[in-house]
Amino acid sequence: MKVLIKLGVISSALFFMLARNVDLIRIEQPDEDDFKYMQRTIDYTLSIGKCLEQPFGASIVRKRTGEVLCYGVNTVSQSPTWHGETKAIENCAAIYPDQGNNVTFWKELTLYTTGEPCPMCSAAILWSHIGRLVISTPMEVFAKSGFEHIPLRYTQVAEHANTEHSANLVVVEGVLSEITDPWFSWQFDPKGKCPHGCHKEGSKCIETSDAEEPKKPQIPDNIKLEL
Ligand SMILES: [Zn+2]
Repeated sequence: MKVLIKLGVISSALFFMLARNVDLIRIEQPDEDDFKYMQRTIDYTLSIGKCLEQPFGASIVRKRTGEVLCYGVNTVSQSPTWHGETKAIENCAAIYPDQGNNVTFWKELTLYTTGEPCPMCSAAILWSHIGRLVISTPMEVFAKSGFEHIPLRYTQVAEHANTEHSANLVVVEGVLSEITDPWFSWQFDPKGKCPHGCHKEGSKCIETSDAEEPKKPQIPDNIKLEL
């Protein structure tokens, strides 16, 4: 009897593991539009501030029609759960109030983010049924700089979500991270260099009013950047 119970436990655990790992996220290479829309997300974030202490910006795009539906930027000074990604999702929901439960609407959208989603935002992306996620700076970069974070990757959140939520999420990593990585390098380093267009005042980076235009990003030759 004991053996039977044990076998039952093992087989249900095995079933659970298998069920959990079906339709996991899929990592893909960026396409031409990913560079274009990440650049737009970067431009949006810079329009909020060139020296943001929390430079996490996001946009949500319907690539099929070429529409940027909404943006969001980290505003934890106003609400502790307003990260770039959750704010963008909230902004989209406010702009499209009838689409909250419409999985078809969210499924064809791509979320671009300047920093890898935290566990809360990863879960929000899965709950939203957003079909595609494009990330610039990975968590390890801002974690190493000293940013407070919960050390759980979006891949781990997706692994533990049920298959309905994690099914077919396509992820692209590291798009234009050469631009965004330096944004996260100065906040906890007294000697840290400020991002382009900012200068040090005490421990803060302050916007320099007469800053020159930043250098063009290093984008692969086969990618055209037309905004
Ligand atoms: Zn977050």
